[in-house]
Amino acid sequence: MNQRQGSDPATPIRAVDVIRKKRDGQELSRAEIEYLVQAYTGGEIPDYQASAWLMAVRLRGMTRKETSALTNAMLRSGDVLDLSEFPAKKVDKHSTGGVGDKTSLVLAPLVAAGGLVVPMISGRGLGHTGGTLDKLESIPGFNVNLSVPQFRSVLDACGCAMIGQTSEIAPADRKLYALRDVTATVDSLYLICASIMSKKLAEGVDALVLDVKTGSGAFMKKEEDAAFLAELMVETGEAMGKAMVALITNMDQPLGLCVGNSLEVAEVLDVLRGNGPEDLKELCLELAGWMLYLGGAADTVAQGKLDAEQLIASGKALEKFRQMVALQRGDTRVLDDPRQLPRAKYMQDVTSPKDGYIAAMDCEAVGTACVVLGGGREKKEDAVDPAVGIVLGRKIGDRIAAGEPLCTVHSNSEARAIRATKLLLESYQITDAPGVRRKSLVHRVIRGSKGKDQKENSSGGK
Ligand code: URA
Repeated sequence: MNQRQGSDPATPIRAVDVIRKKRDGQELSRAEIEYLVQAYTGGEIPDYQASAWLMAVRLRGMTRKETSALTNAMLRSGDVLDLSEFPAKKVDKHSTGGVGDKTSLVLAPLVAAGGLVVPMISGRGLGHTGGTLDKLESIPGFNVNLSVPQFRSVLDACGCAMIGQTSEIAPADRKLYALRDVTATVDSLYLICASIMSKKLAEGVDALVLDVKTGSGAFMKKEEDAAFLAELMVETGEAMGKAMVALITNMDQPLGLCVGNSLEVAEVLDVLRGNGPEDLKELCLELAGWMLYLGGAADTVAQGKLDAEQLIASGKALEKFRQMVALQRGDTRVLDDPRQLPRAKYMQDVTSPKDGYIAAMDCEAVGTACVVLGGGREKKEDAVDPAVGIVLGRKIGDRIAAGEPLCTVHSNSEARAIRATKLLLESYQITDAPGVRRKSLVHRVIRGSKGKDQKENSSGGK
């Protein structure tokens, strides 16, 4: 039945009233939010009512009280893991979503190689942004759907494991996340906060590093929105006793050169071998430095970064990745030969119409081009094509001559490639004048109380 008892037993809560109340800009009670989350997760409320409620939240926003009630209701929709049997500190990092953002795949094995436990629960592609689970599934056989006992046993064997929300952990986020993806309700700061924090608090971590993206490819186009979300999440995590920090990082262009699931896995392998694009390496080291520091494996963030560099140079991080892939039933042959990853049928350059300099990119359009190619979902039931994507030839600040490749499209359908190419051509802004400066990668660091104690500045810290 589509209703439940409210605080006044005489007036049961009905979905339609909760939707109307939010639509009219009123504050919802904890009981109303709990009802909505529980009833939707349990299949009592249909997608169309949950969609209407999500849109009302997207348009009207939420108070701190409502956001905390939503985070809690989503957290309590499933089990909260108790990982106290592991003596090492448990740490994780989560990104608010970007284009070409593959840092999680580097960080889980890297930080586990540094002696901490990384129990990572990730999401799928959302809107124009890529998802860690979709990337991992481009490794043939890799299983992101582990049961809780399997998750524990992988953690026990190698110190890191990467899975999705399950029917046991954060099931409310699993359903709401998929619905937001197709109802244009992704970019609500309150829904993002509840989605991320419910998953992360369910993991049983001691410390959490948040990578809050801002710029043309982020959900938060304006830095003040990113800062607001970062503070909201740091506050929520600290209230639950977690050591927290949020880095506000640039997403005006894709991170690294590759966008698309198997292309990104190949780029991750480059980084784990000590190569790969500078921006991606720099961000991975920065985030790893914070994870190692907050988890107590390094005395300062700067030391954590040096340790992370060493763990890559010694091959220990790559070895840890190999171990995790094997334990999660992935084909480890792709680690030695990334050409074994799924590959697209067609490769076509998108060339510059003129000489000049790349002044800006519409990074969201690049993410959308990848979705159009089949690398993400346009509809909830769409299957993701792991092979397709885009490899950038030029990034902001670079010089280009007419006819040279701006990027290369990897596709399995000519019709999709034509749509993607149009988006990509429009996404590059080319000017005659040189001198466009790339923005720094880390704009700001928002620290929780443990982060504030730290003695040495990380490169991005202010
Ligand atoms: N990542 C999540 O897990 N949830 C969001 O809503 C956005 C990014």
